[in-house]
Amino acid sequence: METDTITAISTPIGEGAIAIVRLSGPKAISITANVFKGKNLGDVASHTIHYGKIIDPETKEVAEEVMVSVMRAPKTFTREDVVEINCHGGMVAVNRVLEIILSQGARLAEPGEFTKRAFLHGRIDLSQAEAVMDLIRAKTDKAMSVALKQMDGRLSALIRRLRQDLLETVAHVEVNIDYPEYDDVEEMSHDMMRTKSKEVYKEVVELLQVAKQGKILREGLATAIIGRPNVGKSSLMNTLVQENKAIVTEVPGTTRDIIEEYVSVRGVPLRLVDTAGIRETEDIVEKIGVERSRQVLKESDLILFVLNYNDVLSEEDEKLFKAIEGLDYIVIINKTDLEQKLDLDRVYELAAEKPIVITSLVKEEGVNELEEAIAKTFFAGDIDTGDLTYVSNVRHIQLLKQAKQALEDAMEGLELGLPLDVVQIDVTRTWELLGEIIGDTASDSLIDQLFSQFCLGK
Ligand code: GDP
Ligand code: ZN
Repeated sequence: METDTITAISTPIGEGAIAIVRLSGPKAISITANVFKGKNLGDVASHTIHYGKIIDPETKEVAEEVMVSVMRAPKTFTREDVVEINCHGGMVAVNRVLEIILSQGARLAEPGEFTKRAFLHGRIDLSQAEAVMDLIRAKTDKAMSVALKQMDGRLSALIRRLRQDLLETVAHVEVNIDYPEYDDVEEMSHDMMRTKSKEVYKEVVELLQVAKQGKILREGLATAIIGRPNVGKSSLMNTLVQENKAIVTEVPGTTRDIIEEYVSVRGVPLRLVDTAGIRETEDIVEKIGVERSRQVLKESDLILFVLNYNDVLSEEDEKLFKAIEGLDYIVIINKTDLEQKLDLDRVYELAAEKPIVITSLVKEEGVNELEEAIAKTFFAGDIDTGDLTYVSNVRHIQLLKQAKQALEDAMEGLELGLPLDVVQIDVTRTWELLGEIIGDTASDSLIDQLFSQFCLGK
């Protein structure tokens, strides 16, 4: 039976910037060799690792410097030829490498598909396979639907529509300026530009918001538990892990064992970053000061800040509040089974509008409320992955951010009453940036398009 070659990003979770694109199947080696500059991978011995570069076949540019492990069947996890491309440039680079590999005829692996193949080829038994697959599925089902949707072209369709809107606006403005039929043509054009810019802006902002959720679904929410010693951080971590079944993925037989730890709280995957699972910060502020702790904590998507109900609010607590100002955090007031010594009014004042949850972890009280708060913080209620267009590619997200900025510039220009041909520069730029997302090279200038689509016939 003919099997195809599958690929996926397989990233060890942690502080390290290394990410891996893994391929398995009869063409794993030839597909990689096609885009690899370095040794001829077709000739190298099994279970060897090679330094080289991944070349984008379209642009001929170097996409990434990599270390490639080549493992030939049958002594591999899947018992097929397996290649692992180690990228050092983080998620941006690894996304690009994955795209390139996909363009060479590999297929995006389904959740657990590597494991399924290992099982089908007798490499592991069913119970092992099931265990691994359950764990993987819990983590990746949603992530996979994100990827599939993007491949579906929903994003492209939306981007095309937005570009068309911008293009028509520019065209109309040009026509109005060149063929004024009314005295107030300038004003009308301004209005039209403003309305369209706002409409497109709203959609771009929405895409970016959803992109944030998409990233979380893919990578898990980097979560830090902070608080003074003894407030209950470890207890909180244990509770979350027990209640939500820590997901530990261990894929044996590959060049390294990859261990990922997640807990899924109401559909929100929390990424447990260090050995203990969660980055536990005891005296970070004491050690490195408010400003630097802030820099460190900024890397978290979510901070769980634990306070002790049974102790007065200390200077250190106040410093921690300062360090996390403006970040996404939830305050947890723990040990409510003990006597109150904490100044709650002051806590409410410091936390401002952030969620505050009251718990007694020894009595297992308040845990549901905490889980609800976590879910709410990121999804404003229940997650519905069915109906949204996701942007899960880092390059796309960056382009969208630039487009958003360009639109803001355009709208500001309109507010300031700048001439339309000036504002138009920002609108055109937005159009170009969106074009880069769907791979419309800027070879056709906007003006060429205007002529071909609207026959201005000047
Ligand atoms: P950490 O130092 O912040 O990680 O705090 P731990 O989780 O290690 O907890 C410190 C101590 O407080 C342990 O003896 C816990 O059993 C206890 N503790 C944790 N939560 C509660 C609680 O809600 N009530 C009471 N009375 N004790 C708690
Ligand atoms: Zn602890």
